[in-house]
Amino acid sequence: MSVTFRCLFCRLLLIFLALAALPALALETAPIAQPAPSLIWDAAYLDQQGSLLEAGIKARLADKTLKADPGATAGMDDYDVTWYDLVMDIDTLLNEVIGTTTIRAVVTGSSLNEIDLHLAAIHTVTEVRSAGLVTVSSQPSSELLTVTLDRTYLQGEVFEVEVDYHGDPSTGARNAYGWSSAEGDEMIWTLSEPYGARDWWPCKDLNTDKADSIDLHITVPDPLIVASNGLLTGQTVPVAGRTTYHWSTRYPTPTYLVSLAIHPYQIINDIYVPAVGDPMQVVHYSVPAYGSDATAGYAVTIDMITAFAAAFGEYPFVKEKYGHAHFPWGGGMEHQTCTSMLYWYYGEHIIAHELAHQWWGDMITCADFHHIWLNEGFARWCEAYWEEASNGQQAYRNAMNSHKYLGSGTVYVEDTEHDNIFDGNLTYDKASWVVHMLRFVLGEQDFFDGLAAYRAAFEMGSATTEEFQAVLETSSGRDLSAFFQQWIYGELYPTYALGWAVSPSGTQLNLSLRQTQLSVPIFDMPIEVRVVTDLETVTHRLDNSQAHQWYSLPVNGTIQSVELDPDDWVLCTKTYEGVSGVPAVSSTGIVGNTPNPFNPRTTIAFNLAAEGQVNLEIFDLAGRRVRTLMSEVLPQGPGSTVWDGTGNNGRPVAAGIYFARLRADGVESLHKLSLVK
Ligand SMILES: [Zn+2]
Repeated sequence: MSVTFRCLFCRLLLIFLALAALPALALETAPIAQPAPSLIWDAAYLDQQGSLLEAGIKARLADKTLKADPGATAGMDDYDVTWYDLVMDIDTLLNEVIGTTTIRAVVTGSSLNEIDLHLAAIHTVTEVRSAGLVTVSSQPSSELLTVTLDRTYLQGEVFEVEVDYHGDPSTGARNAYGWSSAEGDEMIWTLSEPYGARDWWPCKDLNTDKADSIDLHITVPDPLIVASNGLLTGQTVPVAGRTTYHWSTRYPTPTYLVSLAIHPYQIINDIYVPAVGDPMQVVHYSVPAYGSDATAGYAVTIDMITAFAAAFGEYPFVKEKYGHAHFPWGGGMEHQTCTSMLYWYYGEHIIAHELAHQWWGDMITCADFHHIWLNEGFARWCEAYWEEASNGQQAYRNAMNSHKYLGSGTVYVEDTEHDNIFDGNLTYDKASWVVHMLRFVLGEQDFFDGLAAYRAAFEMGSATTEEFQAVLETSSGRDLSAFFQQWIYGELYPTYALGWAVSPSGTQLNLSLRQTQLSVPIFDMPIEVRVVTDLETVTHRLDNSQAHQWYSLPVNGTIQSVELDPDDWVLCTKTYEGVSGVPAVSSTGIVGNTPNPFNPRTTIAFNLAAEGQVNLEIFDLAGRRVRTLMSEVLPQGPGSTVWDGTGNNGRPVAAGIYFARLRADGVESLHKLSLVK
């Protein structure tokens, strides 16, 4: 049974209850019992908030992680990992992992005689070998393992290091590994984003170095089954009662997307048929008691892969698999080729979100967590895109409107050690609007072509915001610097005020569009206006980049409505100023300046009844010309220009009263300006 909570109070109560419950989950890896009747985890609530719960769990992991993260050491730039081999014996009686990890890498610096790896100091390192020879290692910090190589390796040479270790990974600071249970049976899981991989295996824990391939040989007591990345290529019995699962991926994978999910799963098989090539297995590892729920709930996965493949190119890991493995966290985690998912929840939005990450986050990974919006903003937007693919345009708009965030903060994570990387409002919701607005600014063709170019440039690698922007600029031929500055690095949104009036002839609609926000600069964004008359409905696209701009649009018939941004393409608020004060464009002259008084910039607006030479100059009270703003031929219609409060010599002028004088079309128009300091 589920209850839909539509009233704000109920939703706030739900959020409060959910938040109140979360810290307990963070401290406790015991299974989450499903409350009945479900209040905290109401299914309708999860439908909208599902991926924000993902934000919640990731945020808590990040919070525990970042304070101790040493990041990259200088020496890590000197080698590139090509292969990891993880051999792990999982002892569920002692809650211990006994592991050997092999790291194969190529030297990228000039030479190398020791390497730094990430490994949490919760493990006992029993032996380290380089080229098969026992060597020296040390743990200089709680996060690092330094290994002396058997000799000096030169640029381009390949070396191999093996680390034997054992310990209880669940004692790590990050809660990245859990001994847990579901429905009375053991459930062992990992969730390493952003820096948790080092809690359970030694690695170079940086998104910029994806291993080209990874093998995992995981031994567990029967009847446990191991789900992991890539393909299950072998299953052996080392001793009676224990089974080794050999998982193997040949796709580049960042460390935080490597996962284990272990339980006596029921395996549910499905098939995805790509447009080209062999069918791909889709495998769901389900808690047996939820097998029928999983079969029904995950059935939509095939249609989703098809829809996303049509939009973004083929599923990136089509030679291996996709699927879900149940785990006990309240949300999902986009482990590459094997998403981990809360075992009793099947909302379409979170299924779409984690699948979308296979393209945006897994195939292309944020280069570091300053740029996490490239993962989460895209996946959040894809929830709405799935609505469009399955239910149409209005469903897309409804989903986007449910993601609207009108608060402060930047999408770019300024400080990855102290800010919340996984901020639901910024990293997820506002970032999804950035993707949505890019679609509007670029148009359908250039937007999807741009995503294809982004994929071509960074597939199986990692990218920064600047690299994404550069690809879009090259593919579309547009300058997007203002767009990224205001929406990724800037805060808030434009607040528009629209006024309109019809010309005396009845054939022109004159619009006044102001941006009235005070705390952030003027936005440079196109915006649509829909004009409905008794004869027609026309949507105009206006370029808007000034505090106050005027437009004149042809109109046919009697106006019934004028609506700004009718299809919700721009993150903004809007008010309507009625029909007064909007000039007709049939007379030449200065209309006004905004703001006034001003300091130091003001926008001067004017109208021209006919094309011709225009001179716009600034004079002081003594009649001295201090600045020539325009001297050029302009077309008929409204226009505007900015005075920045400086004279012709480039220096700021004194505070006081000035006059703007427009000469054009045989008309001289004067307007008083007040510069205050
Ligand atoms: Zn996500």
